[in-house]
Amino acid sequence: MIKAKKQYGQNFLQDKEILIKITQAIPKDTKKIVEIGPGLGDLTQELLKISPVKAYEIDADLIGFLRDKFQKELKERKLILLHQDASEISCFDESKYFLVANLPYYVASKLILQALEDENCQGLVVMVQKEMALKFCAESGSSDFGALGVLSAMICERKILFDVSPLCFNPPPKVVSSVMRLIKQKEFKQMCELDSFKSFLRICFKSPRKQLLSNLKVEKQRLLELFGDLKLKENVRPHELCVNSYLKIYEKLKDKYERK
Ligand code: SAM
Repeated sequence: MIKAKKQYGQNFLQDKEILIKITQAIPKDTKKIVEIGPGLGDLTQELLKISPVKAYEIDADLIGFLRDKFQKELKERKLILLHQDASEISCFDESKYFLVANLPYYVASKLILQALEDENCQGLVVMVQKEMALKFCAESGSSDFGALGVLSAMICERKILFDVSPLCFNPPPKVVSSVMRLIKQKEFKQMCELDSFKSFLRICFKSPRKQLLSNLKVEKQRLLELFGDLKLKENVRPHELCVNSYLKIYEKLKDKYERK
């Protein structure tokens, strides 16, 4: 009998209908799936009906359980099961893949950004806490629009597909979850030097309710000229700018954010 471990964010999804809806959201041309946190393997079982799966699981007890459950698939190499902390991996596979997961919520945003940065990742269908899905899929102008929204909007087509009640899990989490789909259209490297752009965004959104002008802490006259060129109001707040404006401001100020 496997007991759910809180420290690994274990809430096992047990609703067959939701498992099927998740798999139906995966693009039809997917040739390989990476799953993070297969848990008791219920989602894995559905994913294996679509394509080979490579799965990363941190919990040794679950690895033992999964090795028993998927003996045949492991032997046939339809399933590759790795006992690893996925948050420490920068490239989840050496060939093109689609990421599908009911993510451990404590590390979900980190894992999603890792996947977006990985050039082999073609996109993802993941279940996360609803608040996080709203952030990743937010449009400029909405109060949820922050650094996560800018980064995902830069390179992905994004959609929240449906919400999932806590009652669909065992044990039930304290929050409502959402399944979202991000399809990659571009790579970050086509648009910016990512580490310095992320530092820039951290500064822009440091005090999200303040005016962007005061967050940026650059000589006021220089900023006013730049905002004037971009037709931005002096009192614009960080969530009100679109991705293009962020990229343009970054281009002009990037010397300040480049890693020395
Ligand atoms: N996929 C299963 C399901 O839908 O029922 C389990 C989902 S549960 C929310 C999250 C899973 O991620 C657990 O199996 C947990 O042990 C695993 N996990 C947590 N942190 C991890 C990490 N850093 N790397 C890999 N797996 C992790």
